[in-house]
Amino acid sequence: MKKTVLLLWTLCVTLAIQASYTVSSPNGLLTVTVSVEQGMASYAVDFQGHQMLQPSRLGIHADIGDFTQGLTLVSTEEKMVAKSYDMTRFKSSHADFHARQLDMVMENREHHRMMVTFLVADHDVAFRYTLYPQEKGNPKCVVVDSEATSFRLPSGTTTFLSPQSKAMVGWERTKPSYEEVYSSDAPMAVPSQFGEGYVFPALFHTPDGWVLISETGVTGGYAACHLSDYQDLTGYTIAYPMAGENNGAGTTTAAFTLPGSTPWRTITVGTTLHPIVETTITQDVVEPMYTPSQDYRPGRYTWSWLIWQDNSMNWDDQLQFIDLAGKMGYEYCLVDALWDTRIGRERMGELTRYARQKGVELLLWYNSNGAENDAPQTPRNCMNTTIARQREMAWLQQIGVKGIKVDFFGGDKQATMQLYEDILADANRFGLQVIFHGCTLPRGWERMYPNYVSSEAVLASENVYFNEPSAQREAYDLTLHPFCRNSVASMDWGGIIMNRFMSRDNKSRHTRKTSDTFELATGITNQSSIQCVALQPNNLSELPATTLDFLRQLPTTWDETRLVEGYPTRYVVLARRHGSQWLVGGLNAEDTDKVLTLSLPMLSGQTVTYYYDDANGQTVARQAKVDKKGRIKVMMKPNGGFIITSSI
Ligand code: CA
Repeated sequence: MKKTVLLLWTLCVTLAIQASYTVSSPNGLLTVTVSVEQGMASYAVDFQGHQMLQPSRLGIHADIGDFTQGLTLVSTEEKMVAKSYDMTRFKSSHADFHARQLDMVMENREHHRMMVTFLVADHDVAFRYTLYPQEKGNPKCVVVDSEATSFRLPSGTTTFLSPQSKAMVGWERTKPSYEEVYSSDAPMAVPSQFGEGYVFPALFHTPDGWVLISETGVTGGYAACHLSDYQDLTGYTIAYPMAGENNGAGTTTAAFTLPGSTPWRTITVGTTLHPIVETTITQDVVEPMYTPSQDYRPGRYTWSWLIWQDNSMNWDDQLQFIDLAGKMGYEYCLVDALWDTRIGRERMGELTRYARQKGVELLLWYNSNGAENDAPQTPRNCMNTTIARQREMAWLQQIGVKGIKVDFFGGDKQATMQLYEDILADANRFGLQVIFHGCTLPRGWERMYPNYVSSEAVLASENVYFNEPSAQREAYDLTLHPFCRNSVASMDWGGIIMNRFMSRDNKSRHTRKTSDTFELATGITNQSSIQCVALQPNNLSELPATTLDFLRQLPTTWDETRLVEGYPTRYVVLARRHGSQWLVGGLNAEDTDKVLTLSLPMLSGQTVTYYYDDANGQTVARQAKVDKKGRIKVMMKPNGGFIITSSI
């Protein structure tokens, strides 16, 4: 009997020793080849005849079995997938997703099955694993503790990567929170700064093009993963959360019921950067998790905390920022931490009513804590349990608050992913939109959770205030994010900053290094459906009418997004359409003047408004003509920018 089994097993292995299958995108230019050889599964990605990912491992390790080795291919099925959807939260209001789907069922030595699903679109690949109930022992659920999944970039590839932080370090032990500096064209073999690998998204410049790798569709049903350090043989592998995250509470593993799937890992490829900037893959492969309880309004918000800091958390200062929002025609004002003690809960209803008389709705700050770190700001213990949260949100709804910003989360463990989801789901019941800070990368949430707005998950504007080196790095950061962080998800950068000095009196502390036109253009290049304009009350009398008029009319939702040209960390020119109007924003992070002849075919022959930095660093606007071939010449100073707007 034993002999027969052994013979059969050997036969299976022999039959399956060379099993590979290639699936092509609808236009045939992108191909994924999945192979099972010597019991191990791998995939490779080619685009227009160039290898974008070398054969890279597939497979997961779970308590019900090892699906990283001893695999045989059981079946292969291919089909077309097509879907269309509308959304207001991301870079285009409508998306048509066409892909070929490949389902490959594999079996491990114990005859337990795993399906690997690939979706292959013209510039995007998404893949995930599905596990099934097993007959033996009859488990109904599974715990995944690690993966073989890897990404092997061709040699000569350079990287734009942000290191994963150690757990429970940094200010009040609040890290990791996706607030580290990205590299620029660094070699792959450089060890990560903290020895913990890299966070998503990860951008790579390969010898033949560009590859953007991220993750989407993460709910409370899984942990958020990241990338390991680079190893010569295996490239970058999928890494799970660190044990210390969330103050040690919760597992580093992911558990789900059977049948069930892992999140999607996404790979966007191009010979140019256009597909990298324009992709919607992180939204294409997910679905809304619930129905919105109401129409949620996008818009702009004013925010006292960026420059006036904690001392502005008082009644009189908040009135100034509400009045400012009202004068600018902005929809929202964000009241940051400490409002509960320094203004007082009992006055918040009155503050909300005051704001509404000015046509402004309030957003209120909350601490996510809990016990996940030492972040001290109040209100605390209002968002971490269902009972406290629902009581708080019912009160917010009663006094007329329209949204919350929740800060200082515990990391990437499944327990924390569940907290994000619970906050979002409860907030929808009470008509609240949600912004996260001190947090993980949102993974498909703009579409999955209709009241979700955007997240920080970036070394944001507060650092421009905190220290001069960050102010000096602002242009570097903001010319990278359209290609990377903000390409996969909305980003609450935390404001177009118009103060010249990083102080309330606008005369002391360090200066902002970017030009006014640069800052205005970030309103186009940074995407968040509720966008912060960190204007200060003093700016109203300081800034020219041209600048204030632009800020009054700035849209925050986009029907279309196109990269015009750029290079991450050097410069970027992005065109976004709002209704019939095109807004083109350019940022220059290089230390020389940049003269560009842009190609804007959508504006051929049109007269447009061109905003630029004059010799005194003031923003000026004039009429300009785009020629019949769609060309127009623009100039950007170092740390400067430009804007082109078409007529409405
Ligand atoms: Ca932060």
